[in-house]
Amino acid sequence: MSADLNTDVEPSIYRIGEIVPWVSPWSTEGSFSLVLSQRFPDQLEVLQAEAPGVGVPALKGMHLQRQRAGVADHLCHVCGKPTTPGDRFLFPVVTGNFLPPAADGQRRYASPMPPTHMACAQRAQKLCPHLRLSFAHPVRFPSDPGKLRFELHPPRGMEAIGANMPVTEAIFSYYRVHTPGFSRLVERLRAQAAAEGHTVAPN
Ligand SMILES: [Zn+2]
Repeated sequence: MSADLNTDVEPSIYRIGEIVPWVSPWSTEGSFSLVLSQRFPDQLEVLQAEAPGVGVPALKGMHLQRQRAGVADHLCHVCGKPTTPGDRFLFPVVTGNFLPPAADGQRRYASPMPPTHMACAQRAQKLCPHLRLSFAHPVRFPSDPGKLRFELHPPRGMEAIGANMPVTEAIFSYYRVHTPGFSRLVERLRAQAAAEGHTVAPN
């Protein structure tokens, strides 16, 4: 082995956009504050410290601002760059949930997941076994993007942050409520995947 081997140039094993999704929170992003929402007037939003790439990434959960920007602006979950209508995918068989039936009896599929470029999903799935299930069963994002909504409950794992907020209501995340047509498609795809013995999110 060469004596002048420079280990400083060793790339980090945590490459954002490859084995670490852009949306993932990092260990140095653990402080929170409140800000007025730009998208939903009169609402406060929880603001999380931003230092992606510093410290250690968490592969569970999503950074609050990156989640909201991803869902609102169709930024790729994996690389953070904009997706175009021709290359914008969701994974609704394993992510998101169905809302209780509306007055018209229709069930709506709702998702807090930013979309993904196809190549990004495939790369992440190949490099990280943890992401294999999350990126199973890609479905093209519908041409009607549904309605952008906000969530006041803290996501799983952030309950203590919600409990310590100086206000009772603040927006943590965004989600999209999809059209009845896309919701029916998701219902069909989940039933089909379950019948084939695949893991499916609970309806
Ligand atoms: Zn991407």
